[in-house]
Amino acid sequence: MANDCIFCKIRDGKIPSEILHRDDVCFVIRDIAPKATVHLLVIPNEHFLELTGLTPGHADMISGMFLAAKEMAKREGIDKSGYRLVFNQGSDGGQEVPHLHLHVLGGRKLAAMG
Ligand code: 5GP
Ligand code: ZN
Repeated sequence: MANDCIFCKIRDGKIPSEILHRDDVCFVIRDIAPKATVHLLVIPNEHFLELTGLTPGHADMISGMFLAAKEMAKREGIDKSGYRLVFNQGSDGGQEVPHLHLHVLGGRKLAAMG
Protein backbone atom coordinates (compact mmCIF):
# COMPACT_ATOMS: atom_id res chain seq x y z
CA MET A 1 0.00 0.00 0.00
CA ALA A 2 0.99 3.62 -0.28
CA ASN A 3 1.30 4.96 3.29
CA ASP A 4 -0.63 8.14 2.63
CA CYS A 5 -3.37 6.61 0.44
CA ILE A 6 -6.87 7.38 1.75
CA PHE A 7 -8.42 4.30 0.16
CA CYS A 8 -5.72 1.95 1.49
CA LYS A 9 -6.33 3.41 4.96
CA ILE A 10 -10.07 2.83 4.63
CA ARG A 11 -9.44 -0.72 3.37
CA ASP A 12 -7.27 -1.39 6.45
CA GLY A 13 -9.69 0.23 8.91
CA LYS A 14 -7.26 3.04 9.74
CA ILE A 15 -9.90 5.56 8.66
CA PRO A 16 -13.29 4.46 10.04
CA SER A 17 -15.71 3.97 7.17
CA GLU A 18 -18.69 1.73 6.52
CA ILE A 19 -17.61 -1.04 4.15
CA LEU A 20 -20.79 -2.02 2.27
CA HIS A 21 -19.21 -4.97 0.47
CA ARG A 22 -15.86 -6.70 0.47
CA ASP A 23 -14.57 -9.60 -1.61
CA ASP A 24 -11.31 -11.01 -2.97
CA VAL A 25 -10.67 -8.16 -5.37
CA CYS A 26 -12.49 -5.06 -4.14
CA PHE A 27 -14.50 -3.26 -1.49
CA VAL A 28 -17.32 -0.70 -1.69
CA ILE A 29 -17.95 2.49 0.30
CA ARG A 30 -20.26 5.49 -0.01
CA ASP A 31 -18.64 8.59 -1.47
CA ILE A 32 -18.05 11.19 1.25
CA ALA A 33 -19.35 13.97 -1.05
CA PRO A 34 -22.15 12.29 -3.02
CA LYS A 35 -22.96 13.66 -6.49
CA ALA A 36 -26.20 11.68 -6.68
CA THR A 37 -28.70 10.11 -4.27
CA VAL A 38 -26.67 6.92 -4.52
CA HIS A 39 -22.94 7.43 -5.00
CA LEU A 40 -20.73 4.44 -4.29
CA LEU A 41 -17.04 3.83 -4.87
CA VAL A 42 -15.85 0.37 -5.91
CA ILE A 43 -12.19 0.17 -4.97
CA PRO A 44 -9.72 -2.64 -5.72
CA ASN A 45 -8.00 -4.10 -2.64
CA GLU A 46 -4.68 -3.75 -4.43
CA HIS A 47 -3.17 -0.27 -4.36
CA PHE A 48 -3.34 0.30 -8.07
CA LEU A 49 -2.83 3.81 -9.35
CA GLU A 50 -4.92 4.31 -12.46
CA LEU A 51 -6.34 2.88 -15.65
CA THR A 52 -3.23 3.65 -17.68
CA GLY A 53 -1.42 0.94 -15.72
CA LEU A 54 -3.87 -1.80 -16.68
CA THR A 55 -2.51 -5.04 -18.13
CA PRO A 56 -4.26 -8.28 -19.16
CA GLY A 57 -3.20 -9.57 -15.73
CA HIS A 58 -5.71 -7.20 -14.15
CA ALA A 59 -8.68 -8.78 -15.95
CA ASP A 60 -9.98 -10.51 -12.79
CA MET A 61 -9.71 -7.29 -10.80
CA ILE A 62 -11.62 -5.25 -13.37
CA SER A 63 -14.33 -7.83 -13.95
CA GLY A 64 -14.71 -8.25 -10.17
CA MET A 65 -15.19 -4.51 -9.80
CA PHE A 66 -17.95 -4.46 -12.44
CA LEU A 67 -19.68 -7.43 -10.83
CA ALA A 68 -19.54 -5.73 -7.43
CA ALA A 69 -20.94 -2.52 -8.97
CA LYS A 70 -23.82 -4.45 -10.53
CA GLU A 71 -24.63 -6.26 -7.27
CA MET A 72 -24.43 -3.08 -5.21
CA ALA A 73 -26.71 -1.24 -7.64
CA LYS A 74 -29.27 -3.98 -7.07
CA ARG A 75 -28.85 -3.80 -3.29
CA GLU A 76 -29.31 -0.02 -3.41
CA GLY A 77 -32.48 -0.44 -5.47
CA ILE A 78 -31.30 1.45 -8.55
CA ASP A 79 -30.86 -1.48 -10.94
CA LYS A 80 -34.27 -0.93 -12.55
CA SER A 81 -34.21 2.88 -12.66
CA GLY A 82 -30.66 2.93 -14.00
CA TYR A 83 -27.27 4.20 -13.00
CA ARG A 84 -23.91 5.34 -14.35
CA LEU A 85 -20.46 3.81 -13.88
CA VAL A 86 -17.51 6.20 -14.14
CA PHE A 87 -13.73 5.94 -14.01
CA ASN A 88 -12.01 9.31 -13.79
CA GLN A 89 -8.56 9.00 -15.35
CA GLY A 90 -5.83 11.51 -14.66
CA SER A 91 -5.93 15.27 -14.43
CA ASP A 92 -8.29 16.06 -17.31
CA GLY A 93 -10.54 13.19 -16.24
CA GLY A 94 -10.89 14.74 -12.78
CA GLN A 95 -9.14 12.00 -10.84
CA GLU A 96 -8.40 13.20 -7.31
CA VAL A 97 -7.50 10.00 -5.49
CA PRO A 98 -4.56 8.08 -6.99
CA HIS A 99 -5.97 4.62 -6.21
CA LEU A 100 -8.22 3.20 -8.93
CA HIS A 101 -11.96 3.41 -8.21
CA LEU A 102 -15.22 2.98 -10.05
CA HIS A 103 -18.01 5.45 -9.26
CA VAL A 104 -21.59 4.11 -9.15
CA LEU A 105 -24.09 6.97 -9.51
CA GLY A 106 -27.86 6.74 -9.47
CA GLY A 107 -31.12 7.41 -7.68
CA ARG A 108 -31.85 10.50 -9.74
CA LYS A 109 -31.97 11.42 -13.41
CA LEU A 110 -28.38 12.13 -14.41
CA ALA A 111 -27.57 14.82 -16.97
CA ALA A 112 -26.86 13.63 -20.49
CA MET A 113 -23.15 13.55 -21.23
CA GLY A 114 -22.30 16.48 -23.43
P1 5GP B 1 -12.02 10.93 -8.18
O1 5GP B 1 -12.22 12.40 -8.36
O2 5GP B 1 -10.59 10.60 -7.78
O3 5GP B 1 -12.50 10.10 -9.34
O4 5GP B 1 -12.95 10.51 -6.99
C1 5GP B 1 -12.55 10.47 -5.67
C2 5GP B 1 -13.80 10.43 -4.83
O5 5GP B 1 -13.44 10.03 -3.52
C3 5GP B 1 -14.49 11.79 -4.73
O6 5GP B 1 -15.81 11.69 -5.25
C4 5GP B 1 -14.46 12.10 -3.23
O7 5GP B 1 -15.65 12.70 -2.77
C5 5GP B 1 -14.24 10.71 -2.62
N1 5GP B 1 -13.49 10.71 -1.36
C6 5GP B 1 -12.35 11.41 -1.10
N2 5GP B 1 -11.93 11.15 0.15
C7 5GP B 1 -12.83 10.27 0.69
C8 5GP B 1 -12.94 9.66 1.97
O8 5GP B 1 -12.12 9.84 2.88
N3 5GP B 1 -14.00 8.82 2.17
C9 5GP B 1 -14.92 8.57 1.19
N4 5GP B 1 -15.93 7.75 1.48
N5 5GP B 1 -14.85 9.15 -0.03
C10 5GP B 1 -13.82 9.99 -0.28
ZN1 ZN C 1 -4.18 2.89 -2.07
